[in-house]
Parts: sequence; C-alpha cells; structure tokens
Amino acid sequence: MTSIPVEKRSTLSAVLRGLRQTCPACGRGRLLHRYLKPVDHCTACGERYGHMRADDAPPWMTILIVGHIVVPLLLSVEQAYHPEAWVHFAIWPALTLVLTLALLPRCKGVVLGVMWANGMSGGEPR
Ligand SMILES: [Zn+2]
Repeated sequence: MTSIPVEKRSTLSAVLRGLRQTCPACGRGRLLHRYLKPVDHCTACGERYGHMRADDAPPWMTILIVGHIVVPLLLSVEQAYHPEAWVHFAIWPALTLVLTLALLPRCKGVVLGVMWANGMSGGEPR
C-alpha cells in the first residue's frame, strides 16, 4: 500500500477519524488496540502507525477537557445546593475517572490524527 502524500492529507478529516479511533487515512480500520496502543498498521489501507509517539499530548488534552467540565460543575453544585462533603466525594472522583477513561483514547486518536496529517512521527529528528 502507498501512503497518501502529506500535502494531500486533510487535518480536519484525520482529526475526526482519530476522534472515532479509526484510521486517519481511510477511516475504516482501527487506530488503537488494547485501549491506547496504536496499531502497527491499518488493516484496511495498510497505513503504518506503530512508530508514532504521541507522548504527553493526549493526557494533557484529557486533563484540560475533564478539568473544564468537572470543576465548573463542582462549583455550581456547591453554590446551588451546598451538599454534604460525602456527596462531593461520591460524585466528582467517579465522574472524573469515567470522563478520563472515556476521553483519553479519543484524545490520543485526535493527536495521532494531527500527527499523521502533518507527517509527524513524534520521534527525535535526526
Ligand atoms: Zn486505514
């Protein structure tokens, strides 16, 4: 399989496909396996992803999004209802965990999509 030239790759399309955790090149094959590990290559089009390293960008993006959801909700609930502390301890850590686990692979897909669209591998330049 031949790879799509970098100048013909659509970043928006790659990001949307990465968000769905599908191959940024074709949108049919899976991008991740075992939760966060990029597949070696797309089973549908053969595009290679095993060498790509997203490093800290997906966790950073996930923390940014989850923090902007949970903290305003927590503050709004506290101001509106003044619940007991145990209510906060019951809700917010669980919500944070669920959102984090749900968003982390999607953020990794987005980062890998951006990297693929721009011809980046995440490795050190030689
Ligand atoms: Zn593909």
